[in-house]
Amino acid sequence: MRYEIFISEKPIDGKEIEEIRGLPVIRPIQIHSSTVVFAGKRYFGRKGDAIVTDNKKIWVGVLSADCLPILVVARGMVAAIHAGWRGTLKGITFKTLKYIQTFTDIQKIIIGPGICRNCYEVGEDVYRSFAPHLRDRLFIPCGNKKYLFDLKEANVIQARSAGVNIIEPLNLCTVCNNDRFYSYRREKTEKRILSAIRLL
Ligand SMILES: [Zn+2]
Repeated sequence: MRYEIFISEKPIDGKEIEEIRGLPVIRPIQIHSSTVVFAGKRYFGRKGDAIVTDNKKIWVGVLSADCLPILVVARGMVAAIHAGWRGTLKGITFKTLKYIQTFTDIQKIIIGPGICRNCYEVGEDVYRSFAPHLRDRLFIPCGNKKYLFDLKEANVIQARSAGVNIIEPLNLCTVCNNDRFYSYRREKTEKRILSAIRLL
C-alpha cells in the first residue's frame, strides 16, 4: 500500500492549490456533515466531508483550519476526511472507514494538523451534544461552563470502533504551531490548510 501525502503550510492558502506535481487535487464541498463522496474518473464537486478514491491519477484532499484532517490508507484506496466537532458528532470518521471496508481492508489512518485538547475550548452546547458515556472521555471542565474538548480522541475512538487500530497522529496543533499552520480560532482567517493523499 504505497501512498504519498501533502500538507500545506503558511503562507500558502490550501484553497488555491489545484494540483500537486501535475495531478489534480479533488475536494468535496465541505458542509460539516457525515457524507462520504467517491471520486472516480469524473467528479462534479459534490457536497460532503470525506472523499474516497481508487484513482491513482488524482489527489483527494480536505481543507481545514483547526478541524482535523484525517488521511486514510487502504488496499487500493485512499481517503481524506474533514472532522470538525459537528462532523465528528455525526460519526464522519466511523462512517468513512465503514464505507471503505465494504470494498477493501484499511491499513491505517494519519491524523493531520488540527486543534489540540489544550487549545480547544468549547461551550456547554458542544459538551451536551455528545453522548453521556463519551463526555468524561472527551471533555475536561475548565470553569464558567466551558470545556476543553479532545477532538482527536473523539475520532480515534471512531477509528477503533471501525476496527482500525493503526493510528499515526502527526501531533501538530494549529494553535500551538500557528507559525506553520492556519488556525481559524487564533486568527479568524479565511485561509486554510490543504491535507491531501494519493495512491501510488
Ligand atoms: Zn494546541
